[in-house]
Amino acid sequence: MTPISRRRFLAVTAATAAAAVGGPLVAACSDDGSDGDATSGGGSAAAATDPTVPIATESAPTSATTPASDTSAAAEEPAVALPGDPFTLGVASGDPSSGAVVLWTRLAPDPLRGGGMPDLDLDVTWEVSSSDDFADVAASGTTTARVAHGHSVHVKVDLDPGWWWYRFRVGEHTSPAGRTRTAPVPEEATTQVRLASASCQNYQDGFYTAHADIAAQQLDLVVFLGDYIYEGRGVDVVGDNFTVRTHGTEEPTTLEQYRDRYALYKSDPELQAAHASCPWVLTWDDHEVENNYAGAVPQDPADAAIFADRRRAAYQAWWEHQPVDLPPPGDEFRIHRTVRWGDLVELVVLDGRQYRSDQACGDPGLSLEPPCPETFDEARTMLGDEQEAWLLDSIAGRSTQWQAIAQQTIFGDVTLGGAVLNYDQWDGYPVERNRIVEALDPAADTVVLTGDIHFAGAGIIRQGGRGTGAAVASELVATSISSGGLVDPAVTEVVKAIPDIVDVELEHRGWILHTVTPDRWTAEYRMVDSVKVPDAPMFVHATYVIESGSNTVTRA
Ligand code: FE
Ligand code: CA
Repeated sequence: MTPISRRRFLAVTAATAAAAVGGPLVAACSDDGSDGDATSGGGSAAAATDPTVPIATESAPTSATTPASDTSAAAEEPAVALPGDPFTLGVASGDPSSGAVVLWTRLAPDPLRGGGMPDLDLDVTWEVSSSDDFADVAASGTTTARVAHGHSVHVKVDLDPGWWWYRFRVGEHTSPAGRTRTAPVPEEATTQVRLASASCQNYQDGFYTAHADIAAQQLDLVVFLGDYIYEGRGVDVVGDNFTVRTHGTEEPTTLEQYRDRYALYKSDPELQAAHASCPWVLTWDDHEVENNYAGAVPQDPADAAIFADRRRAAYQAWWEHQPVDLPPPGDEFRIHRTVRWGDLVELVVLDGRQYRSDQACGDPGLSLEPPCPETFDEARTMLGDEQEAWLLDSIAGRSTQWQAIAQQTIFGDVTLGGAVLNYDQWDGYPVERNRIVEALDPAADTVVLTGDIHFAGAGIIRQGGRGTGAAVASELVATSISSGGLVDPAVTEVVKAIPDIVDVELEHRGWILHTVTPDRWTAEYRMVDSVKVPDAPMFVHATYVIESGSNTVTRA
């Protein structure tokens, strides 16, 4: 194989003593992690080693404990022993641009109990190749897995447009290989992209058959719309028709507890396969912190005293576990951003939780009462002023055929007889929604990608009045990957009768396979027969089509 960067590693005071323990592994000095954002990897072997960390030593004798089968990593200095394979959480990639993609892993030999790593920052080698045997390494380097980041790594690698394989190594351990790709260059005439939208994967509620299906489809991109974890305490009884497995722990409030919750989810092999199959673009919803939290306001008032710390811990854990091209959370943690796919699609990724006003009218849940006056307060916001202005700028400045607004809660007006059925959705923020709808151009192709509600749907967004105004966007609502349904399928016809709802399916779990071309957006709603048994059959519920220029979704 092509040699990667010179065998270099970072000295630690413990290295000599630890060498006697055995496991070959390269250690870096522990620090506060203050410089640890996505490390630019460079596009060649020569540009590989993280320049922010001092290099202390070169060359290394062969370790007697290195397995003979590992021909590529054979020359590491033994420094720290790990209690086992650190790559238990798989690999992932995300936030591709035409020139780079972020590669992710987290070292966690004991994933469900804090990770099981020594209290040291450690070097991790990464490699990118055009083939899965890594015969030719196109780029490689070393980054640092920091204690302060839960030993997660985010490596931003400069790569040419196209498909790549990647993997990580630490000491004698090699990660599974992942497949990723960069986006087409912005100026390029892009003829097609195939992407998933998905959300809501309560581990307790069901198996991740939908993720195995996502992996099998060999997509270009997965767009995940939130509720990646659920914060609820573990159920005591499994198999009661509602749960198939348990979180096994209390509701998380600390960083350590959120890390363990992510580790539980990421231990699922079907989720790992979906991550390893292509890059993901992720946003969050409420359950990454707490159900229905709004900005700085927790759902449970009893939580108020600790909520600021709890939210900070949850955001930190989200960042540590996702392949996002974002610096680590500080006092600010902006996650709204755009991802562009050639001249075909721009994803405008929203954060509907961090900056929102508290749900109106006391968040009454299902209510058939007329909305209280607070609902129509102009100052109420789901996005916050800065993000709303940024969204309006993004809408005005679009330069791709399609613009897809990737967000969480139902955007369309689904009020029933004037009643807001769910104040957590955009119906609870109607003034801000109207500003966005009025900013959309009827002549442009806009699609809203939605999650959160655990049912599948398709609808039309209009200016100036439901049912009659000018169509300005289509909304495609993905059902949950596994989370239990929230609306009784018995009311399907009632929901379908709401103007501008084209279709709903309330019963099954699944995801949407979007095939986008310059002329047409096709959305195949793929569903799993049951998430209560492993490997249940998938089926296509329906396929919906949006012709360019129509802003109207129809069932094919
Ligand atoms: Fe959910
Ligand atoms: Ca949610």
